[in-house]
Amino acid sequence: MIQTLANSFEANYPRIVGLFKYEPSGKTVVHVYSNKNQFQKMIGRSTEGTYVAEENIIKVYTPSSFSNQKNEDEYTFQVIHEFIHAVIQQINPAIGQVKFLDEGIAYYVSNQLEAELQTRTNFADIPTFEQLSSPEYFDKSGHEAYFFSGTIVRYISNKYGVDALNELIKNPEQIEQILNISLNQLYEQWSEDLRK
Ligand SMILES: [Zn+2]
Repeated sequence: MIQTLANSFEANYPRIVGLFKYEPSGKTVVHVYSNKNQFQKMIGRSTEGTYVAEENIIKVYTPSSFSNQKNEDEYTFQVIHEFIHAVIQQINPAIGQVKFLDEGIAYYVSNQLEAELQTRTNFADIPTFEQLSSPEYFDKSGHEAYFFSGTIVRYISNKYGVDALNELIKNPEQIEQILNISLNQLYEQWSEDLRK
């Protein structure tokens, strides 16, 4: 199980540090826990993985064995997802406060979004921009918040390029200047693209 996670991590590492043009200084530390109750008690919320910025440690819950391929994919994706948080939050700690970018980038770059798009055809209930940009949306909508944030990051990356995405990570408050578009226009174009 640990070996599977390690292999997947190694396989994705060059792609991710290359994309963000950032080599973490020193080894990336990942703590793996196999007792879900204890894990969630320690973290203090009902999650299965997190990046603890103050300690620079990725902490994940993983079952002691995988029940099937889908289950294995879910937990290997999770480690990659948390590593992306680790990289972008080391580039700019403030990105952690802009949830739709922080989570959207992790969900998109980990390829979790692509995997979901292979089977998902329903894009109804597109959130408003106010919803997307409020942290409560993530608490309330759970998975849907990750999905829609991922699609907006995917849209930005495809249309404006990876350099623009890297600029956004460094200066998230300058999104309108970097993309040279108002937030309203960005929202309209993204949601229109999603309905296609
Ligand atoms: Zn995340």
